[in-house]
Amino acid sequence: MKKVNSNSRRDFMKFLGLGSLAAVVPTVSSAATIPHVVVVGGGFSGATCAKYLKMWGGSSVDVTVIEPNATYVSPILSNLVLNGQKTTANLSFSYANHSSKYAVNMVHSMVNSVDKTTQTLTLANGNSIKYDKLVLAPGIDFIKTNDYDMTKIPHAWKAGEQTNLLKAQIDSMVDGDTFTMTIPAAPYRCPPGPYERACVVADYLKNKKGFNNCKVVVLDANAKIIVEEETFSSVFATHGVEYRPNSMVTAVDDTTKTLMYTENDVSKTLSSTVLNVIPNQKAAPIIFTAGVNSGNWAPINPLSYESVLSSGIYIIGDSQATGQPKAGHIGNSEAKVCADAILRTLSGVALYASPKTNSACYSPTSATEASWLTGVFKYDAQTQTMVASNTAAGGTSVANYSKMFNWSGNLFADTFA
Ligand SMILES: Cc1cc2nc3c(=O)[nH]c(=O)nc-3n(C[C@H](O)[C@H](O)[C@H](O)COP(=O)(O)OP(=O)(O)OC[C@H]3O[C@@H](n4cnc5c(N)ncnc54)[C@H](O)[C@@H]3O)c2cc1C
Repeated sequence: MKKVNSNSRRDFMKFLGLGSLAAVVPTVSSAATIPHVVVVGGGFSGATCAKYLKMWGGSSVDVTVIEPNATYVSPILSNLVLNGQKTTANLSFSYANHSSKYAVNMVHSMVNSVDKTTQTLTLANGNSIKYDKLVLAPGIDFIKTNDYDMTKIPHAWKAGEQTNLLKAQIDSMVDGDTFTMTIPAAPYRCPPGPYERACVVADYLKNKKGFNNCKVVVLDANAKIIVEEETFSSVFATHGVEYRPNSMVTAVDDTTKTLMYTENDVSKTLSSTVLNVIPNQKAAPIIFTAGVNSGNWAPINPLSYESVLSSGIYIIGDSQATGQPKAGHIGNSEAKVCADAILRTLSGVALYASPKTNSACYSPTSATEASWLTGVFKYDAQTQTMVASNTAAGGTSVANYSKMFNWSGNLFADTFA
């Protein structure tokens, strides 16, 4: 912690809109120190939280982001790398604005452990960092069926090198080859994302490569298409995508590119030229190391995103267990609720009692069309949960394809600019 000056106190009050109500905010004595909030993970949720903590908290709070990568590659729009509409470079964002505009401290390393008693993090680079409040925004991890090589069977569900590996495999296909992908059991990152991928790849092989004899097979662990069913079924029918629900992967052979799976409880095998297995998912490892998980995800209080298992630790983004979708747009929304709650808590002001979050997913269904899905989530005081309201979807169209870039541009800017 650093020493507080009078500017710090003014920043807190400005954020809370309490400039003329000084009595509401407890006076910070001159001997007090500036609290240090450490954010682990610089994705959509972590980068947004750090930015808004400094935008709203100013010099009253020190903020450090710990993230191993110097640039973040957005999974959002990454299916467009597969059909050549985008490159991973187009979807890469640096943290330059976090440092220069918002005075966020950036540390590029991995957090290996959390000592909750001394409030200290140990990093992979050998250093340790103390925190007053800790925000964990580490995304997801995969639950693999067996120990296969993910460079041979890419998931491409975390963007970057994995996306390029899958793109290269698709580009080496010839007419008559098969592309098989698997969809994990819900909950997983981005509910429409896998269905979107099947549409984009089928369109690419047929309409860009001119292959009329390629097969696209989708093995879905779920009982049916879980979102935008009408839209995706209709695009699957147009492209001849073979869709098989209730199909759960049991093992992957990376040498022969063969899947072992059950379809409606019957054991089967399938070999494919390209195999894109998107495994079942759970919170990232640091959530388990910190002991803030219950089962596969991290339970939190939706008024603040503070862990219900460990006070002073907040979990946002895909790792949290509120039942809200695991998606970047809503991760950005959760991050603002969390930043607001931390600043209120540090200043002794009550949490905002009726938070709302919102989610939006645009899904390219070809190189020219996209669909969308949105939802607003409201805090329900009786059940103390976030409840979905005002959900809506828009079918696939050329107009939605161009709107997709307005939406994503705004989200990227709100997170990184
Ligand atoms: C194909 C596809 C399409 C998608 N489309 C949409 C869409 O249209 N709309 C939408 O809202 N969402 C979409 N998503 C989902 C969205 O990308 C994710 O939900 C979002 O990235 C989650 O944000 P996050 O901050 O929780 O995690 P991430 O973005 O994964 O960020 C986590 C960060 O934490 C870091 N980290 C992890 N562990 C540690 C550690 N121990 N120490 C330090 N750092 C650590 C990682 O390096 C990473 O940078 C899509 C996803 C895919 C794959």
